[in-house]
Amino acid sequence: MVNMSNSITILLDKCVGCTLCVKACPFGAIHMANKKAVIDMAKCNLCGACVSVCEFNAIEIGRYAGEKKDISSYKDVWVFCEQKKGVIQTISFELLGEGKKLASKLGVKLCAVILGHDIESKIEEISRRGADKIYLVDAPELKSYQDDSYTNVIVKLIEEYKPEIVLCGATTIGRSMISRVAVTVDAGLTADCTGLDIDEKERLLLQTRPAFGGNIMATIITPNHRPQMSTVRHKVMKEAEIHKSHKAEVVRKKYSQDILKSRTTLLDIVEEIEETVNLAEADIIVSGGRGLGGPENFALVKELAKTLGAAVGASRATVDADWMPYSHQVGQTGKTVCPKLYIACGISGQIQHLIGMQSSKVIVAINKDPDAPIFKFATYGIVGDLFEILPALTAEFKRILKK
Ligand SMILES: Cc1cc2nc3c(=O)[nH]c(=O)nc-3n(C[C@H](O)[C@H](O)[C@H](O)COP(=O)(O)OP(=O)(O)OC[C@H]3O[C@@H](n4cnc5c(N)ncnc54)[C@H](O)[C@@H]3O)c2cc1C
Repeated sequence: MVNMSNSITILLDKCVGCTLCVKACPFGAIHMANKKAVIDMAKCNLCGACVSVCEFNAIEIGRYAGEKKDISSYKDVWVFCEQKKGVIQTISFELLGEGKKLASKLGVKLCAVILGHDIESKIEEISRRGADKIYLVDAPELKSYQDDSYTNVIVKLIEEYKPEIVLCGATTIGRSMISRVAVTVDAGLTADCTGLDIDEKERLLLQTRPAFGGNIMATIITPNHRPQMSTVRHKVMKEAEIHKSHKAEVVRKKYSQDILKSRTTLLDIVEEIEETVNLAEADIIVSGGRGLGGPENFALVKELAKTLGAAVGASRATVDADWMPYSHQVGQTGKTVCPKLYIACGISGQIQHLIGMQSSKVIVAINKDPDAPIFKFATYGIVGDLFEILPALTAEFKRILKK
């Protein structure tokens, strides 16, 4: 009989009560009772840490990966090209760049999918980024993103054309849409990938993302279901190069009102007004951390940012403390940025922050603790008190830039 659920079992005859598993469990889900390990299933998330440390093979874990489907007819790599007000978002070009590599390894086509209204003019822009084929769905109902209509259309396209991989930006729209699509088509979805590759022997997508609060990088595979679906964060991958003469085949699809209708009505789109430059697009970012000591001291960071024409970033510690709005947060649960220059002021450099900025070209760290982890990643480190260093830097930049 096949076990159709996940399970974990302590084999009482083998358990010697050594407590190794208790110490290894990152979730505090194991305790001892009568010298035998007991697992609290409300806390356990089947990570398997206890199984690896048990020297007596006393813990058995069973993971049900779902029934294997017939996946033989699925082919091609798809990229969902997100548009807002008719402007293709740059994450789409990043995905096309990465998608091309995956498609070449698999020997299949790179296909772009674009939904919107009056978007014929986008064909050339997407073609030039290397797509071999473009699925274009143009309808007034698709002008702006709506959960229902976009999900329905993507599901229909997937059901008809059967891609083996679907990539989507880990944006507000991408996250909302693709999870709905994955559930409807019964596919696996790995969110927030920072690396993608192909296991060429098994033809599997290797989806790497931070796990356990960013402390490890996990590579996830989807052997039994298709498509293999991933969201990827902005600025993690390089944009596809432009090849002006490249021409893609275009497949135009029309759908009935049944598919295009939405249970919600879009009244208005209210854009957040950024005080300075958009963080994700900025060439220079000056970021502040808890070392600033209080919200009022962000003025020092803002002054330097203003002088350099930079955007202002923030660590989560400062956002959680309400010193800065969430839109400024850099890191695993904030924005991923890749500026030419990132100046970290009073930020310790925990892994969750580093994930969001470590691919910056030049990193300057200002911290009074010479052992702060940020210095391991910094191009230039300034050890000292930011209350002295920031005003001095701002004054010097003002003087030089005035010339
Ligand atoms: C699931 C999860 C997701 C997370 N996501 C994010 C995320 O997206 N982004 C993020 O940033 N964090 C994130 N975190 C939190 C992260 O682990 C850290 O807690 C956070 O980054 C710490 O912020 P900080 O560096 O500002 O503060 P601290 O770690 O407290 O560091 C403050 C630094 O300031 C220095 N300092 C103090 N006074 C001065 C001074 N006068 N001059 C110079 N230096 C000084 C100190 O030496 C210290 O290194 C996440 C955590 C978890 C568990």
